[in-house]
Amino acid sequence: MKGIRHLIDISDLTTEEIDGILAVAEDIMRDRAKYAHACEGKKIATLFFEPSTRTRLSFEAAMMELGGKALGFASASNSSTTKGESVMDTIRTVSAYADIIAMRHPLEGAALAASRRSIVPVINAGDGGHCHPTQTLADLLTIKDRHGRLDHLTIGICGDLKYGRTVHSLINALTRYEGNRFVMISPPELTIPNYVRYEIMEPRGAVWSHCTDIEDCIADLDVLYMTRIQRERFQDLDEYERLKDCYVLNAEKMKAAPEHMSVLHPLPRVKEINVDVDDDPRACYFKQVEYGKFMRMALILRFLSDAEKGYCPEPNPRKIYTAADGFVCHNPKCVTAVETDLPQQFSLRDQAHNIYRCEYCETRFGHYK
Ligand code: ASP
Repeated sequence: MKGIRHLIDISDLTTEEIDGILAVAEDIMRDRAKYAHACEGKKIATLFFEPSTRTRLSFEAAMMELGGKALGFASASNSSTTKGESVMDTIRTVSAYADIIAMRHPLEGAALAASRRSIVPVINAGDGGHCHPTQTLADLLTIKDRHGRLDHLTIGICGDLKYGRTVHSLINALTRYEGNRFVMISPPELTIPNYVRYEIMEPRGAVWSHCTDIEDCIADLDVLYMTRIQRERFQDLDEYERLKDCYVLNAEKMKAAPEHMSVLHPLPRVKEINVDVDDDPRACYFKQVEYGKFMRMALILRFLSDAEKGYCPEPNPRKIYTAADGFVCHNPKCVTAVETDLPQQFSLRDQAHNIYRCEYCETRFGHYK
């Protein structure tokens, strides 16, 4: 039997598919009435085991604007998780009630694990510090609308590049478009994870530089993507306290930015963008929220249609290793660390450097250099 198509990582979509989803989102923005009944009789379940304002509500609003209905829960404490139910069992149950599921969970790899149990498409709405593909699609739509293109841009990414899941997915998407240059603005402790650097940026020949202060590079940027320091992902809260206010964008710093630059932020912000930037025409972070809904409408249409047609791309063929081969994932935030019934699975990522990865959380084993 053919599998069901899920969106776990932005890599699950080809560049053509991303462009196609953005084009449908743009069409929805032009003519909302045309889509008002497209999902009549359909239901989305939003299962949020971790807090969210925008992502959950925008999935629900998206389905409602398509004429469908939404059900679900907004925190793990409102689900049978409190009785000890596994994510896998929750998903198997909910997939009997809904046509599509959007799920957020604090454990890395939870969406992939869920998708293996679901009988309907699962959309990853954020799994721990791992990835957040639907935020990336909203980010791309914002950039495209503002700059008219997704290529030949200089993008500054500022803040928590280590734990910011939106950053990992955004880099994965923008490195596919020609001529983009990246400026990574972070303290050394919060720089991008090795796998993003060595498996996404370097193989694609991404051009990037590092900068410690916003002031030193803002004049060169087309896009400035600000992020929150992800308090909930730090194991050492003293380190968080030390780093939490390391970047603050304000009206004074914006004076050096080009007229055409846009400021994005996946929100929520804490202090990294001062409110005195909000009325600057270059501030796009609230617009980004609106785009998120239209893009999620396009995404729901695409994944429901693929499910109806029974379309599911073949996964990349790779040999899967298990605990019996002597591997174990030591990431305490991996879904397999908590859902111990899940069989751990690994694959070889980089033969030259002998790097293996956990299939769920993508933690790498071995040495890069
Ligand atoms: N809302 C985004 C996320 O869920 C960004 C953030 O929380 O900082 O990852």
